[in-house]
Amino acid sequence: MSERKLTKAEERRKRTFELLEVQMQEKGYQKVELKLDALKANLLGVAVALPFIVIEIVIYVILYGNPFMQNHNELLFFVAMFVGIVVHELIHGITWASFAEKGWKSIEFGIIWKYATPYCTCNEPMKKRPMLLAAIMPTIVLGLLPAVSAIVFAQSFLLLFSIIMIIGGGGDMLIIGNILKYHSKAGELLYLDHPYEVGTIVFEKNNA
Ligand SMILES: [Zn+2]
Repeated sequence: MSERKLTKAEERRKRTFELLEVQMQEKGYQKVELKLDALKANLLGVAVALPFIVIEIVIYVILYGNPFMQNHNELLFFVAMFVGIVVHELIHGITWASFAEKGWKSIEFGIIWKYATPYCTCNEPMKKRPMLLAAIMPTIVLGLLPAVSAIVFAQSFLLLFSIIMIIGGGGDMLIIGNILKYHSKAGELLYLDHPYEVGTIVFEKNNA
C-alpha cells in the first residue's frame, strides 16, 4: 500500500508522537496501533449508522408521516449542517479537555483542506472510559438527542438534522468498536487518538 502524503500538521504531530512513544517505552509501555482505512471508515461508518437512522425514520413515519415530504428551508438546513459538523469536533475537544491533565493544551483543531473536513485530536493518552466518551459524545448530543426531540415534538427538520449527524458519527462508532474489540492481557492500558491516521494507539504495560 502506498503511503499517503502527510500534511504539515500531521508531520508535526507525528514527530511529537515519536517523542511521546520514546517516553512511554521508557515507562515500560508497548505500542499497539488500531488503525482504520480512511475510505473504508467512511463507507463502513455509514453502514454502522444506518440501523439507527432506519429506526428513527420508521418511528417518525408511524407517528407523523414522511419527514422528507414536509417543507424545509434548505438554506437553513445547510447552515445547520455546517454548524453541526464544526460543533461535532468541538464536543470531542470539550470532552477530551475535561479529562486531559493538560486540559485544552492537549487539544488541537484543524481542517484537512483536501477533504474539507474539520477535525479535533488530543495528544494525551488516557484511560479507556474517557476515550470512549470523547468518541461518542458528539453523536449523543447532535444525533441521539435531536432524534429523540424530533420524535417527541414532531420536528421533521430536527429529524433530518439528526440523520446527518448520526452518519457523521459513523467513523467514531467504528473507532469505539475497534477499542472494544481489542482485548489485551496487559495490566495497564492507555489510549491515544491516532496523531495522523483514523484510529487509536494503545499503550500497554504489564505491571509485573
Ligand atoms: Zn467525530
